[in-house]
Amino acid sequence: MSRLFGGLSHSRSGITVTLYVPFPEIQLGLCHVLVMDGGGGSNDDWGSMAQWLFKESRGPMNLKNHQFRLAARPVGMAKRSDWNYVEEPVRDPADGELLVKVLYVSLDPAMRGWMNEGRSYIAPVQIGEVMRAGGVGKVVASKHPGFAVGDHVFGVFGMQEYALSNGQGVNKIDSRLAPLPVYLSVLGLTGLTAYFALLDVGQPKPGETVVVSGAAGAVGMVAGQIAHIKGCRVVGIAGGAEKCQYLVNDLGFDAAIDYRGEDVRESLKKHCPKGVDVYFDNVGGEILDIVLSQLALHARIVICGAISQYNNTSGIKGPANYLSLLVNRARMEGMVIFDYAPRFADAVKEMAGWMAAGKLKSREHIVEGLETFPETFLKLFKGENTGKLMIKVAEG
Ligand code: NAP
Repeated sequence: MSRLFGGLSHSRSGITVTLYVPFPEIQLGLCHVLVMDGGGGSNDDWGSMAQWLFKESRGPMNLKNHQFRLAARPVGMAKRSDWNYVEEPVRDPADGELLVKVLYVSLDPAMRGWMNEGRSYIAPVQIGEVMRAGGVGKVVASKHPGFAVGDHVFGVFGMQEYALSNGQGVNKIDSRLAPLPVYLSVLGLTGLTAYFALLDVGQPKPGETVVVSGAAGAVGMVAGQIAHIKGCRVVGIAGGAEKCQYLVNDLGFDAAIDYRGEDVRESLKKHCPKGVDVYFDNVGGEILDIVLSQLALHARIVICGAISQYNNTSGIKGPANYLSLLVNRARMEGMVIFDYAPRFADAVKEMAGWMAAGKLKSREHIVEGLETFPETFLKLFKGENTGKLMIKVAEG
């Protein structure tokens, strides 16, 4: 059991969590995310758990569930008609099950990929299934020995108000340690992605220059802050002057480039005179190509994501400047966060410590109302979010 001694403060620029916590063995729910049945949290586990969670529920419990079910595979940008918004009765949990009232759902660029048919690191959402989504919620009924009514939990609960679960992949979280949204942000898969992608794949060394794209987004802002903590010079690339000012003034980035308003190539030359040692790529496309042309010797490029390509209807734009990898003896490597599940606990512990020390800030962009999902989701692709985008579904 964890011993908890925490305090919270809220600022205008987001929620700052102050933790006076020794984190003995860090039972912060998300540290065990995707560790299923005591195993390593493989992608198959994730897929089968998601399918199990999203199966039809029947029977009365005097509760009505609203859900977004996939109706069509989108071409280009997703639109409202790609989902059906349906109402269903909620059935009572059977023996070994719990019923979760979803409070916040995470919106992730990857959800666009899950709507496509075809092979990926995780099975696609099938037509008719509830849209897959991570979330945090509260147990409202339980016939599961490991969960009691009132417990706060994280799981892949889907884009719906209530989720029945057999407990697989569901983990308790403590709202006294951090506000619930933070468990979808820095202390969730978002923070963990930034942590492992930067530290394991990027391997930054003090004094090196780290460039992060999508820098004012959920993963990017954590990656940049961690690079700063590790003693690197950090340059962010983001859309708009306001986001760039936030990165420099609030998050301690050394410089920020507004890719919508500046010549990225020229600004990179200015801010990275010795070249780029680590490029943390969230966007792919043209920006990846420009950064490739300005690598330092033995540079590392982390392919975390490529959001500029997710809605393409005419194929992916590849990196024409890839021979820069040869010239600079550099490497480019992709990562998928699920591979790091066995190490989540240690990573959350370290990040919670940085938050407690005031070195790492969490910022959430919260939109109210499940029914806004199709339009809110598009904010990710229009650059309308700063920090971790999520929907508040209900009061806790
Ligand atoms: P996010 O950065 O919070 O939101 C997406 C941001 O991307 C937008 O705010 C927008 O910011 C930027 N963007 C959108 N379209 C763009 C375009 N065409 N060109 C350049 N920038 C564009 O989302 P997130 O959840 O943190 O995810 C960031 C990346 O990490 C995504 O690529 C995602 O797929 C990836 N990811 C990977 C893993 C993994 O395991 N590999 C896990 C989680 C996330 P601007 O205003 O700056 O344009």
